[in-house]
Amino acid sequence: MNDCIFCKILTGEIPSNKVYEDDLVYAFYDINPAAPKHILIIPKEHICCANKLEEKHAALVGHIILTAQKIAKEQGFAEDGYRIVNNCGENAGQTVFHLHFHLLAGGKFDRMV
Ligand code: AMP
Ligand code: ZN
Repeated sequence: MNDCIFCKILTGEIPSNKVYEDDLVYAFYDINPAAPKHILIIPKEHICCANKLEEKHAALVGHIILTAQKIAKEQGFAEDGYRIVNNCGENAGQTVFHLHFHLLAGGKFDRMV
């Protein structure tokens, strides 16, 4: 049984506010925003964290970063700037163990996520 909440978001079992989707990735608004715009980008494949990435995932990780850039352009904050964050493991504060990249923008966002 898969208890991963982000896998449940992917199946629709848990609702989310979709920002973008394609064959490989899904992006949605963070439920507890740390910035005026706080979006999470996740792979559709369940990978627990950056520690479990392998060479075969290189294109997927590149695609996630390019997705962040695409969303930034679409939402109009590409030129003003944004932050892309990945937390790996307990000491970094990772709370959901399905790989995700935070995309933060829209003004001041001093709080790290
Ligand atoms: P991290 O601390 O890097 O593991 O980030 C997990 C993020 O997932 C946090 O910023 C949470 O606010 C966010 N989060 C947890 N549950 C949900 C949910 N159901 N919908 C949207 N975001 C969520
Ligand atoms: Zn998952």
